[in-house]
Amino acid sequence: MLKITHPNDLLELALTNKLTSECGTCNALMNPGWESVPGSFNLKLLKLIGTLRNEDSPETWEEYHPNGTHSWSADAPIAIGYHPYSRCDIYQCIDCTRKYLRYGEYGGYYIDERVRPLNAYLIAKG
Ligand SMILES: [Zn+2]
Repeated sequence: MLKITHPNDLLELALTNKLTSECGTCNALMNPGWESVPGSFNLKLLKLIGTLRNEDSPETWEEYHPNGTHSWSADAPIAIGYHPYSRCDIYQCIDCTRKYLRYGEYGGYYIDERVRPLNAYLIAKG
């Protein structure tokens, strides 16, 4: 499994995404911002390939929004080391290999699985 701690490595991975093709399998996850994984989506269609977690860094709730975005913005930066990216794992669609970031938000009785496409243009430079 890839352990990514530097934006350049994440960028390299993101650039392998085929952004032009439609994919029937992961079509429901393509919204550019964070979203809860739809209940109808089978999470087995995503394969774990890496992580942005770094056990050496303390957990943080700090977010990175230098341009006035917020956590749910479609154009919010993907910032390694900031919330929620410091809790994310990296998955790829088993059909088209498009990459997604995913983490679980604890909501009392259940875990809300949240997913966001890995977009090369939104990765914050370190
Ligand atoms: Zn796909």
